[in-house]
Amino acid sequence: MGGIGFSISIDGDGDVDTARVAVWEEMRTFAQWFHVLGGKAYDELDHYLDGLEPAAEPHRAGDRRMYWWFPSPAGSCLRSMLAWAHWCAVAVAVDWERVGYVARRHGVTITGPRPEATAGDERFVVLRDRLWLVEDDGLRGDNLLLPLDELTEEETGRVGAARKRCGCVVCAGLRPDPEILAAVLADLHGADDGRAVQAAWHLERMDSVTPEALEALVRVGAQPGRFHYDDFSHPITRCAGRVPGAWTQLMALAPEVGHDGRDMALQALFPLYRAPQRTEDERDAYRAALRAALAEYRSDTAFYLLKDLG
Ligand SMILES: [Zn+2]
Repeated sequence: MGGIGFSISIDGDGDVDTARVAVWEEMRTFAQWFHVLGGKAYDELDHYLDGLEPAAEPHRAGDRRMYWWFPSPAGSCLRSMLAWAHWCAVAVAVDWERVGYVARRHGVTITGPRPEATAGDERFVVLRDRLWLVEDDGLRGDNLLLPLDELTEEETGRVGAARKRCGCVVCAGLRPDPEILAAVLADLHGADDGRAVQAAWHLERMDSVTPEALEALVRVGAQPGRFHYDDFSHPITRCAGRVPGAWTQLMALAPEVGHDGRDMALQALFPLYRAPQRTEDERDAYRAALRAALAEYRSDTAFYLLKDLG
């Protein structure tokens, strides 16, 4: 096989080639932020990209799909090529709105349908510090095969589990697997600013978020002068939509944290304010909280949110 393409349906008369380059940057960054959690098993996968330009071949006018191409000359990079196509699909599925926004900046509309994050048949597993493609009769690296009968019992168990649920660090990080969640939360609470921001990015994308993680995001993001507002505001808003009871939790937490944290909590409550189950009392309390923030510290966030509420 000489390579594989990943594509999305599009519309509009924009600059598709520029959009393809920009969307590729999103997808690449998405996968590589997870690779940081995965360690050296992913080095080969990142080296595969050296000199590679998946959007280099010009878009054909009139084509209603935009493509990215992952080569495997003489079948030598089959595992890497399939892994990158897999991560592109997952990135687009998880960051659908973000990818659509990036494409629209170049006049290209992504028409969907939104892929499933679990789409595709490929399954991967990490064994012996290497990422393998799981096949029926063995494990495949680039230019490397590991027959199933050479695996230890423990490795056979891990391959069996990966056949059901992909064992790559992107899929494991999104679920998230418990040890990855623990590492991310440790980074969030740690002293390294860059790792804390990265942890917020990961939490924002996980399938499930706990109330404890949401509270940690608000409290860490609220530390005065430590982070850029957007580094935590977006993750808090997106996580709040997936945490049961986030409304009550954030309404209680907002007055306890500093001005930045309070603004972030008020911002995250805004989409929940519109939810059909919200009572009139709850909506009144939210508007009162916004007015209080405006009165107490002239909160810009509260000013614009009140304006949006009309
Ligand atoms: Zn995977």
